[in-house]
Amino acid sequence: MRYNEADILIVGAGPTGLLAANLLGQAGVSVLLIDKSKEPLNLPRAISLDDEGCRSIDMAGLGRSLDNIKRAGEGSRYLDESGQIVGEVGPGPVEYGWPKRNIFHQPQLEALLTAGLDRFKHVRIERGRDLTNFQQNSKEVIAQISGHEIRTKILIAADGARSKTRDLLGVDFPGEAYPQDWIVLDLHQDRDQEPISKFFCDPKRPWVSIPTTYGGRRYEFMLLPGETGQEMLQHHRLEGLLGDIRPLAPEDIMRAAVYTFEARVASNWGKGRVWLAGDAAHLTPPFAGQGMNAGLRDATNLAWKAALVVKSAGPALLQTYETERKEPARDMVQLAVAMGEVVMPVGKSSIYRDALMAGLKRFPGARDFVLGMKFKPAPQYKAGIFIGLDDATQPPASLIGRMLPNPKIDNKGKTVFLDTLLGNGFALIAQSATGRDWLRKLDEETWPIELQKVYLSDDAGLPDMSGYRPIRAHRDQIILLRPDRYVLGAFEPKEANNFLLHLKNLLFLSK
Ligand SMILES: Cc1cc2nc3c(=O)[nH]c(=O)nc-3n(C[C@H](O)[C@H](O)[C@H](O)COP(=O)(O)OP(=O)(O)OC[C@H]3O[C@@H](n4cnc5c(N)ncnc54)[C@H](O)[C@@H]3O)c2cc1C
Repeated sequence: MRYNEADILIVGAGPTGLLAANLLGQAGVSVLLIDKSKEPLNLPRAISLDDEGCRSIDMAGLGRSLDNIKRAGEGSRYLDESGQIVGEVGPGPVEYGWPKRNIFHQPQLEALLTAGLDRFKHVRIERGRDLTNFQQNSKEVIAQISGHEIRTKILIAADGARSKTRDLLGVDFPGEAYPQDWIVLDLHQDRDQEPISKFFCDPKRPWVSIPTTYGGRRYEFMLLPGETGQEMLQHHRLEGLLGDIRPLAPEDIMRAAVYTFEARVASNWGKGRVWLAGDAAHLTPPFAGQGMNAGLRDATNLAWKAALVVKSAGPALLQTYETERKEPARDMVQLAVAMGEVVMPVGKSSIYRDALMAGLKRFPGARDFVLGMKFKPAPQYKAGIFIGLDDATQPPASLIGRMLPNPKIDNKGKTVFLDTLLGNGFALIAQSATGRDWLRKLDEETWPIELQKVYLSDDAGLPDMSGYRPIRAHRDQIILLRPDRYVLGAFEPKEANNFLLHLKNLLFLSK
């Protein structure tokens, strides 16, 4: 039976699926978002949101509401078994318009993203619907959902770590599960209100203490060989783990759970019109706080491509999602594993950790690289939908393939973030008088994509010259920005026709 139709079916209303649905709603395509669970999970999981994630949520038009449910984190501290500080990193610079680390509560973020869908008549969320099977051909996907059949142009599988879609696609999920389980203990209130994450790198039992938005704290303790989750979740054992850190009353506990951390990346991220995103495509141990953030990046990358395929581009464009996202996701998993080596010096003597920390102290740059958010690979793609990535004729420090900085700029006497001028789709940015004239005369009908035209004058970057300077590297060119805020290419006005031809091929556009 034909149940209903939507341009795009998203399976899974976790943060990845919800963000994708919001971005697609904004792009004007119809979406059906389903989740097999009748109610949202409503349990604390991710508690650290990075700057790129904030920027994506802002792109979906929800940045203001986001400010109500998160606060900036002030950094991390690494301590040894005697409580001595062995490493410390601050909040880091703001490059993309948002603090590098933010503390938040995942159920609140999911509620915010769910409420965001109400803005779009063409986006529906249906809970209690289970994807059980699908078939695809060159034109469409036919999905079986709780006994009904729906036809759709693209299926985005954001169905989590145990993804049914991944199994149906026959995709491997290689990697490993950590032998040591961890207890994650979310507490309603805590006397430690320092907005700093603390990593106690104790070879006897590593543990972590992380601030929350609701006045409580999350404690995580590694379980030792022979300890079982069932036994360690008993109240007196939890009290024992906390020792003299703090007392524990039953009503203090929001959630106590045992987790097995895993490090995995799917061997393929999809095929044809069916693509995996978020935990369905990669799982990372939480030491870098990047699991959900990586999923938000997937959603941001895939959403604009899926919208373009629905409107005009060939489905081969979707393959570039894997080309762009898989390697950075793998890098992130590997870095989280390396962070785990510092936080969990078990089986190695603490000498190993201390030598690492002492070595890093002498090289603050390297220390920040390992311990700070600098360990996170820069938002930059080495291949994909870009023109002139390795072109030696581009200016030095070219932004092509990189995320555009989001400095505060001067706009007609008002200080605003650059993002506020860029719109939700592609944008052409000019910075010279010649570029401005070219933009003014441009007949948008000759371009196969909807465009926002932006002119930044010489002194636009006055309030934040350091953030603006990388953009000035392209001052004599027109920058073409993708909807996900990555620089697709840059060209001089006289090269516009060639650039346009190249673009049409790249985006698999026929007209
Ligand atoms: C203890 C812990 C701490 C964490 N800390 C952090 C952190 O600080 N920072 C961070 O970035 N990440 C963190 N994470 C990871 C983060 O929570 C996950 O990466 C994130 O929730 C993944 O989002 P998702 O939308 O991809 O998948 P999920 O949130 O798992 O959502 C998948 C959804 O798909 C639905 N579904 C599954 N199968 C079907 C089906 N067949 N049909 C319909 N619906 C289906 C499920 O019901 C579910 O709602 C942490 C995780 C844990 C467990």
